[in-house]
Amino acid sequence: MTGDGRAIPGEIFDAVDALACGIDIVPPAASQRALVCRTALDTHEPLASDAASRLVRRRGGRVALYTGFVTPDRYPAGENDGPLGAAALARALVRAGVGATIYTDPEVAETTRWLVAELGEDIPVASLADDPQIPSTGVDAAIAIEKPGANPVGVMHTADGRRIDGGSKPIDRLFAAFDRAGILTIGIGDRGNEVGFGRIRERLIDLDPTLGVCACGCGGGLVAATATDILIPAAVSNWGAYALAAALALLTGRSACALEPEEERRMLNVAAVRGCRDGIRCRGAFGIDGLDGEVSVRVVAALRKLVRQTLAY
Ligand SMILES: [Zn+2]
Repeated sequence: MTGDGRAIPGEIFDAVDALACGIDIVPPAASQRALVCRTALDTHEPLASDAASRLVRRRGGRVALYTGFVTPDRYPAGENDGPLGAAALARALVRAGVGATIYTDPEVAETTRWLVAELGEDIPVASLADDPQIPSTGVDAAIAIEKPGANPVGVMHTADGRRIDGGSKPIDRLFAAFDRAGILTIGIGDRGNEVGFGRIRERLIDLDPTLGVCACGCGGGLVAATATDILIPAAVSNWGAYALAAALALLTGRSACALEPEEERRMLNVAAVRGCRDGIRCRGAFGIDGLDGEVSVRVVAALRKLVRQTLAY
C-alpha cells in the first residue's frame, strides 16, 4: 500500500528489482552476475519492496548505513560504488520519516559529506572505528552497501579476489552483533565479496565456481561469510540502493524519496574530482564499475519515471 492507502501492483516492484540489475539498460552480460545471485536467493518475492516495507515499519526510528571500499593501492580514497548509494538511500529514509546516519571508512568520510550535501538533507556522516560497535544511540536497522565482507577464514577481498589489507575497516563482527541483538540487517552488493552474501554463499559458489577461489591463496574464496536478513544483489551496488529508495517512495507515496537523474550526474562528478574511483577503471571518472556515467543516470531516470507514473495514476 502507498502512504495514501493504495495498493501498488506487484509487477511495479518486479520492475524496480529489474532496474537494480540493469535489465534493458545494460548489455545482458552486465546483468548476468546479479541474475545469478537472484537465482541463488531462490525467491520470487520483490526484494526492494520487502526491504522498504520493513524499513517503513521503523518510522521514527534510526537506521545505520555502512559503506566504503578502500584499498591502499587501487582505491586509496575509496570506490565510488557504495557512497553514492548510501547518500541517496539515507535521504530517502529521512524523507520517509526514518532517521539515518552513514558510517564509512575515514578515507571516504569527507567525500560522503560532499555527496550528502548535493542531495539537500542534513544527514550525519561518521568515520568507522577500527572495530566498530553498535552505535550508542541505538539503531533499528543496519544496511551495508558495497562493504567488503570477510570470507570464512576472515579475509576480505576485492572483486577480482585480491586480499584487502590496510584498507576498509571490517564490519563483519558488528553485523554479527546486530544479528544477536535482533536488529534488522540488509546487505546490498554486486559481486559476492560484500557483507550480506553469506546468505547465499554455498549456492552462489555452486552456480559460479570461480567465486570459490581467490587470488591471495587464503583458501576461503572471495564470497563473504556474513549474512544479512535481506540481501539485494544488483548489477551495480549503487543501483540496489537507488531501487530501495524508489521502493520507499512507492510505499510512502513520497516521490521525493527517489533520486533525480541530475543528482546522479552531480554525485558522479563530485566523487570523481575527490579521487573516489570507478572500481574497474581505478581512477576518478564519470563512470561506475567500468560503465559510462550516463548508463547509471539512465537507471536513475527509469526508477524515477516508474515512481512518478505509479504515484500519479
Ligand atoms: Zn583469499
